[in-house]
Amino acid sequence: MRSASIIITIDGPAASGKTSVSRLIAGRHGWAWVSTGAFYRGLAYVALKEHINIQDEVALAKLCVSPIWRVVMAAERTQVFMHGEDVTDTIYSEEIGSAASLVSQFPQVRASLLNAQRLCATGVNALLAEGRDCGTVVFPLAQVKFYLTAGTRDRAERRAREQGANVEEMRQAQVKRDYQDSSRRAAPMQIPSQAHVIDTTSLTLEQVVEQVDDIIRKELAERSLSHL
Ligand code: C5P
Repeated sequence: MRSASIIITIDGPAASGKTSVSRLIAGRHGWAWVSTGAFYRGLAYVALKEHINIQDEVALAKLCVSPIWRVVMAAERTQVFMHGEDVTDTIYSEEIGSAASLVSQFPQVRASLLNAQRLCATGVNALLAEGRDCGTVVFPLAQVKFYLTAGTRDRAERRAREQGANVEEMRQAQVKRDYQDSSRRAAPMQIPSQAHVIDTTSLTLEQVVEQVDDIIRKELAERSLSHL
């Protein structure tokens, strides 16, 4: 099957707005989108449920290709199924986010999940992929790349509001997760070369979506890909 003609990536730290922006822009254009964090969250969740040690790189790498769980792209949220049951509601907590950050540091885990992430671009016209290494490792040839960022307090407030959690506890958990994600040796979170960097701190979601969409439209027009 053919790979997508358009691939757009959005990377950035926890709660920088990647998911909300991706969902809205993909919806506008009728494009597929994937939150690649779902692969790491799903793996961490399944490992915890199956009593697999989340420090055991080899066991985790084996679990990556196990048929007991899978990730499915959808318009609202990237879904995770385990033993056929939709467990999406449980994977988006900060607790699973922290466990995901631990399992994602292992090179064997990243290598084992890479193919499944790349397959998201197969059989669709266009794909918007968001995560930490989408523009650097998963889709290095993406036509348009973004890196969203925002102040730590702002990001913690957003996520704490969504999840009814304590802001300071959320801030500490996110700072730790961002540090782990950007300092690991395998595919660390970083600004991809040629990425458009947008600081969303003082912007509304609508303002970010407009900025990102304007850039996408301009870049696709320059490449004569606007019709897709
Ligand atoms: O984006 P999200 O918060 O769902 O990601 C959860 C965790 O998964 C991140 O903190 C990171 O450790 C890992 N991740 C990654 N590479 C990606 C996406 C997520 O390492 N492309």
